[in-house]
Amino acid sequence: MSAADEPSASPRPVVAVVGRPNVGKSTLVNRILGRREAVVQDTPGVTRDRVSYDAEWAGREFVLVDTGGWISDATGMAAQIAEQAEAAIQLADAVLFVVDSTVGTTDEDEAVVRVLRRSRKPVVLAANKVDDQRFEADAAAMWNLGLGEPHVVSALHGRGSGDLLDALMAALPAAEQGVRDDEQGGPHRVAIVGKPNVGKSSLLNRLAGSTRSVVSDLSGTTVDPVDELVEIGGEAFRLIDTAGIRRRVKEASGSEYYAWLRTQAAIERAEICVVVLDASESVSDQDLKILSGVEEAGRGMVIAFNKWDLTDEERQRYLRREVERDLQAWTWAPSVNISALRGRNVDKLARAIDAAIEGWSTRISTGRLNAFLGRIVASNPHPVRGGKQPRILFGTQAQNCPPTFALFTSGQLDPGYVRFVERRLREEFGFAGSPVHIQIRART
Ligand code: GDP
Ligand code: GDP
Repeated sequence: MSAADEPSASPRPVVAVVGRPNVGKSTLVNRILGRREAVVQDTPGVTRDRVSYDAEWAGREFVLVDTGGWISDATGMAAQIAEQAEAAIQLADAVLFVVDSTVGTTDEDEAVVRVLRRSRKPVVLAANKVDDQRFEADAAAMWNLGLGEPHVVSALHGRGSGDLLDALMAALPAAEQGVRDDEQGGPHRVAIVGKPNVGKSSLLNRLAGSTRSVVSDLSGTTVDPVDELVEIGGEAFRLIDTAGIRRRVKEASGSEYYAWLRTQAAIERAEICVVVLDASESVSDQDLKILSGVEEAGRGMVIAFNKWDLTDEERQRYLRREVERDLQAWTWAPSVNISALRGRNVDKLARAIDAAIEGWSTRISTGRLNAFLGRIVASNPHPVRGGKQPRILFGTQAQNCPPTFALFTSGQLDPGYVRFVERRLREEFGFAGSPVHIQIRART
């Protein structure tokens, strides 16, 4: 496996795909991913859940954020598109701005251009729907946007997408592959995520008191203006997207999708996510969606049960039952009962975050791993299936951040057996606060 022994902790650069509805953003995202994963809809304005996708070009990994699922109405469209673009752009390392050359530039395009100029983020302009040469003159007209060369593409037919991606890679900030922030002496990147009203801004305000002194202590550390350095329990962390947490009014005026877009982008940029839940209320689908999102992104996770001051013994008893029933999948995540309002246990978060960072970045040597696997195979062999008994032959930790194991086997393993191996791995080596990925390489 090619990724063997390459730590992947450094955040992949995030590219926001921005443009007004129907210019072909989703089609272009599909083209770049090389598979029909993003859903293309002919009706603009249908909400899509999934907005960020892992992509790769010329050996470089990056994350594409498709803003195409945003809900619009006809009134004040230019302003709304600009606002949507702003949210996406703030969190991106570079922007892929898509325009429709068959339509020409519109007021909405101009509104986005103003936002792009202010952001000073690198922008690559894609003049889409140039299905054949006859339309190239239309694309050339896009020079008037003042964003440099319009890259002529046809997302539908694939024309020009290679050149576009080359330009995009050139626009991304220099790669820091395999270098973690802590190896550079920088603070860890932490995202505070959670549905509206659970107390994210209260927690942020509680933490932000010491910000200034931390910043001066760490002079020379570059921080994106949407991020903030804070001190938790005496330790400095880089909080991702504090601007997003503070801009509550704007989020309230946008759709729920909007908040979800930001949450996903923040998760992508973080090493560890603190998922804030409201301990005084029942666990909701939205909470579960965020917990799953963190796990799927392979980030470390700490669960903070906030508003603990509002819970009485009865509620706490009930909460324990809810946790057992609904949060079974995440028992590996350390949890802390806090009150952002009163300051209760907030400094304990630092210890939980540290534990999660440690679990997330743990490396097990191949020797230790195989000694452990040998013991498992001897004491709990895989059940016989159709007269055959698949065996784990050998294993290696392909990656950390999160810990990812490749198991070489003599046949497909039952999902139940893989879960058993994961449970035993955790018992043996910890990995608290981190998802653990197991890949099976069956020799047939
Ligand atoms: P989005 O709203 O910006 O995400 O746009 P979509 O990707 O959903 O595309 C809107 C419509 O434009 C769809 O009907 C696509 O098939 C069409 N489309 C996208 N790219 C191209 C292209 O390169 N050429 C042509 N002719 N149509 C395209
Ligand atoms: P956000 O939308 O997640 O940023 O949530 P806020 O921080 O704005 O909090 C929503 C509401 O919950 C506000 O009225 C807060 O005062 C309240 N709140 C936040 N944390 C606590 C807490 O620990 N205890 C109590 N009782 N209320 C809280």
